[in-house]
Amino acid sequence: MIDTENAFKVGPYIAGIEKEGHKVIKCNLGEPDFALPKHIVDAIKAALDKDMTHYCDPQGILPLREAVAKYIGESRGLNIAPDRVVVFPGGKPPIGLCQQTYCNPGDEIIYPSPGFPIYESFVKYVGAKPVPLHLDEKKGFSFTGEELARLITPRTKLIYLNFPSNPTGGVATKEQIVDIARVIKEKANPDIRIYSDEIYEQILFDGEHNFSIASLHGMEKNTVIVSGVSKSYSWTGGRIGWAVFPSAEEAQVFKNLNINYFSCIPAYNQMGAVTAITSPESKKSIHAMVSAFHERRDIVVNGLNKIEGVRCQLPKGAFYAFPNISGLCKSLGVFDAFESLPAETGAKTSPSTIFQMFMLFKYYVATMDRKSFGRIGAENMHYLRISIATGKNDLIEAVKRMDTASKDRAGFEAFVKEGKRLF
Ligand code: PMP
Repeated sequence: MIDTENAFKVGPYIAGIEKEGHKVIKCNLGEPDFALPKHIVDAIKAALDKDMTHYCDPQGILPLREAVAKYIGESRGLNIAPDRVVVFPGGKPPIGLCQQTYCNPGDEIIYPSPGFPIYESFVKYVGAKPVPLHLDEKKGFSFTGEELARLITPRTKLIYLNFPSNPTGGVATKEQIVDIARVIKEKANPDIRIYSDEIYEQILFDGEHNFSIASLHGMEKNTVIVSGVSKSYSWTGGRIGWAVFPSAEEAQVFKNLNINYFSCIPAYNQMGAVTAITSPESKKSIHAMVSAFHERRDIVVNGLNKIEGVRCQLPKGAFYAFPNISGLCKSLGVFDAFESLPAETGAKTSPSTIFQMFMLFKYYVATMDRKSFGRIGAENMHYLRISIATGKNDLIEAVKRMDTASKDRAGFEAFVKEGKRLF
């Protein structure tokens, strides 16, 4: 059974509420709220004027693969040939394609939890065994080599890393990555693949740097480095992502999968991606976006930490806050409400889901619950993801509403009694 990404599922709920005349503050979305920078728009238009609207190289057009190879090579201290690069329709498709390619039924896949839901979603679909690596809030939502070592077995085929992370904003230090690499070298099969999802590589705060595990001696031959345009250039609709594979031969396998699934990706958008990667203008637009996220992050995290029963770590990257809402769930009566649900309803929801729905339907603030970021072993974990990719004033208002909601026992009781929107 394949699962899904709930951030897309909340959309119809929001549309329904807005149809009734209420404006919803959307803190559910994983996409920057900035326009696509003009120099990239111009590059796409120029490519359209050149009629780059036909089939093109299924591996990705050469100028883009060259730009990616040069950029990833220089930023990670590696020497990468363009024939190791494959372009995909976004950073998402290689997640599942790698599981289908590298894993057989019964193989084990380690992935972060909380983590991007598509990692876990695909595991059962390919018949592999999901092995969640639970991230520790106290360690800034990262993990140690030792914690990883406990999960590696001879059947481990694929390990997902995602720093900066969705949904926590966690970033591992270089020392942590060194430790993780050491453990993988010592314990994992020589043909292990590390899927390093670096899609938030440009969105870092407080002087943090993206450090790729592939940069460490001996790790490049085991690592698939993945990134794309969606986050760095606020271009989720461009559907351009890329992966650098350990060898040209491996890249050919994925090129063939592209041919089978979708033939190729619009060449005019790929030309836009070339400009995005190579133009000095991009540095400025990234800087402006990251500065705005930085300011919002501080406002939101400070505001959340002032709400009784809420504790929020300071994210070091990406554009999400991931507060622990256990205390709030207790004082508002969410745990009690959850416990008293009929088993059938209880199986479909969780305390953080109930609070998420209360906020959405009664306070018109859309967030994401904990179980949208990996379900296995997360039953006793109570968090919300709040995307800060929305305007500053809306974010201030959202935190205010969350504070009011957290104290609204009567409203919450009535909401649960109504029982219509508990999952
Ligand atoms: N990986 C992570 C960790 C993400 O958060 C996302 C997007 N939310 C993706 C991959 C997929 O990005 P894209 O839209 O480029 O497919």
